[in-house]
Parts: sequence; C-alpha cells; structure tokens
Amino acid sequence: MTTNTRLKYIIGFIAALLVLLAAGRSLLAQIGGEPDGAKSLTGSPRGETGAPAENESSGGRFKIVIDPGHGGKDPGSAGASGQWEKDSNLALAMKLYELLKADPLFEPRLTRTDDTFVELADRAQVADGWGADALISIHGNAFEDASVAGTETYYTHPDSLRLAEAIHGKVVAALGFPDRGVKEEKLKVLSLSEMPAVLVEPGYLTNAAEEAFMLGDGGQRTEAEAIADGLRAYFAGSGADPSAAG
Ligand SMILES: [Zn+2]
Repeated sequence: MTTNTRLKYIIGFIAALLVLLAAGRSLLAQIGGEPDGAKSLTGSPRGETGAPAENESSGGRFKIVIDPGHGGKDPGSAGASGQWEKDSNLALAMKLYELLKADPLFEPRLTRTDDTFVELADRAQVADGWGADALISIHGNAFEDASVAGTETYYTHPDSLRLAEAIHGKVVAALGFPDRGVKEEKLKVLSLSEMPAVLVEPGYLTNAAEEAFMLGDGGQRTEAEAIADGLRAYFAGSGADPSAAG
C-alpha cells in the first residue's frame, strides 16, 4: 500500500513536471516566435508591395511621352519653303524616340507614329494613362515676319518649369538660335498632363535659315540630342534613380 501511494505521488510529480515543462516551452516559443511572426506579417508584405510598385511605375526607367504636334487634317504651320510643321515635328519626334529607347535611363512612347490626327486631350491621356514621368510636345514655331527667329520652350504647371529650363538650356546651347526664353502659357496638352510637361519650339519654320536646319537630317539629330540631354540633366538631378531601384 505504501509503495503504491509513493508510486502515485512520484507519477503525479512527474506528470506535473511534464505539464509545467510543456507550458514553459510553449511560452518560450511564443516569446521567441512572436517578433519573427510580426515581422513577416507587417514588415515583409509591406516591403514587397512598396518596392515593386515603385519599380513598376518606371520599369526601372523614366517613362517619357513624346508628342509630335499636329498631324492628319491638322498640318500645323507652313514653313518658309511651304512644308508643313506636322511632318518635321514627327521626324524630330522619331529621332528623339530612338535616342531615348537606346538609353537605359528612359522608356519612350509616342502619341502618334504617322500622319494621323490625334486630339489634344488624347495626347495628354497617353501620358496620364501610362503614368508617364514627363511629356515632351514637339512643335515648330511660325510668325508672319520671316525675320523672327529663335528657340522657345513652354510650360503650363509650375512643377514643369524645371524640366522646361533643363531642355531649353540644352536646345539653345546646341542650336545657337536666339534664346527667346522659357514661357508660361495655358496650353491644353500641357494643362491636361498630370506630370511635368513641356512644349518645345526649337526654332521658327517661317525663318528660312532655321527651317533649313529643322528640316535637315543633321539638324533634327542635333535637336533630338539636345532634348535628350535636357531630359538626362533633369532626371539626373531629380534624386530618383531607377537604375538603382531596378
Ligand atoms: Zn505647332
């Protein structure tokens, strides 16, 4: 009887010890495991949705919409030689597109690739819908007085001023045309764009000398390179670094 009772006590004591041990282990597991669990619940998914979203917005590249002004039924201005603005706009835009496409910093897109008419609102929508980082509208200037010449760059929203200045400075330096300045004007394609948007008028098509430059292959290449340089200068100074993100 006594051995039996003793055995019961010993068994009871061991059972109680095991219960305590088990409880202690689960408590330790809870204390030790919770911080990791919390990390994987809050830290990781947040980080995962945040980082790729940033990458996806640029694909590691700055999205640039190039908008060749006019097209189709809207020919734009007639130059000194009688050629239409819409054609030289498109030729310059295509050259700029090729330059940006070859640059790992950029991903370009055109609002038109041939002689078609595109509404101004639809041009801005290409950039807004895509979530572009910048819109560059390409035009050629015109005036009744053929002696008027020079480079002008337009912007509408104040947050586009720095981009306008960056591009304007490079175009003026590369072309050597008179510097007619960066100008603020309410232009539909710019005002509807939700990102920095500028309209570039490298020169006056109604000025024979500037038109000859703007219609020539070499001149258009110089213009395209200057605009691309302006974009590089602007985005290099923006603090964003898509190559590091991607
Ligand atoms: Zn125009």
